[in-house]
Amino acid sequence: CGIVGYIGTQAATEILLAGLEKLEYRGYDSAGIATIWEGEVDCVRAKGKLHNLRSKLEMVEAPSQIGIGHTRWATHGKPEEYNAHPHMDSVNRVAVVQNGIIENYRELRDRLKSFGVEFRSETDTEVIPHLISQYLQEEIALGESDSPFFDAVRKAVHELTGAFAIAVISADFPDELIVVRQQAPLVIGFGQGEFFCASDTPAIVAYTRAVLPLENGEIARLTPLGVEIYDFTGRRLKKQPRLLNLSP
Ligand code: GLU
Repeated sequence: CGIVGYIGTQAATEILLAGLEKLEYRGYDSAGIATIWEGEVDCVRAKGKLHNLRSKLEMVEAPSQIGIGHTRWATHGKPEEYNAHPHMDSVNRVAVVQNGIIENYRELRDRLKSFGVEFRSETDTEVIPHLISQYLQEEIALGESDSPFFDAVRKAVHELTGAFAIAVISADFPDELIVVRQQAPLVIGFGQGEFFCASDTPAIVAYTRAVLPLENGEIARLTPLGVEIYDFTGRRLKKQPRLLNLSP
């Protein structure tokens, strides 16, 4: 599948759709985007090709400046709208897109169900927003973390096995986009006061040529002020983007 993400000063929806168009070759049984507007996650998904999503979005006028998008190539669960990404936690505060497969999703789903979590899809992906949401409540209750959302994503990712790349946003942290790479491709694009992520560079080269491919086991925090890269233990890594040479 294909993932895109944006945080910055422009309207996110069009940038996400344009990026997804360039990634449609990676999968096209459904597509969706989640943005944050007036304190809520706005999640729109559609079965089939990207133009179905585009027509649905024409009715929505929310100039959000942060968002994530996905085109799906189903591995777990039918190619239906209820299985389309983004997937959210029970209270619709955390939205996640994933490229790959979460191998241990059954154990995680059973555990979450035993805590009373209700699942709305058949995918392996839906365990991720629920897990993040649980860790987020814990982080907030403890009150010790400077970046509870980032730490919650990091701890949730620690529990996942498989090959995956994910992007996450939260209505409660509208200035943060968290992305993770573990055996599935993910690049970060650096603009002026705006930052991008995508499964592949064609999705972002129209906006920036300064890119940084994440390595396996890396997690990045994108804010309108910049990008910070960490390993899964939370250790900060020093990395610089490189300039793509587009000439033949
Ligand atoms: N395994 C996930 C799903 O089936 C993601 C598939 C993909 O990479 O598109 O929903």
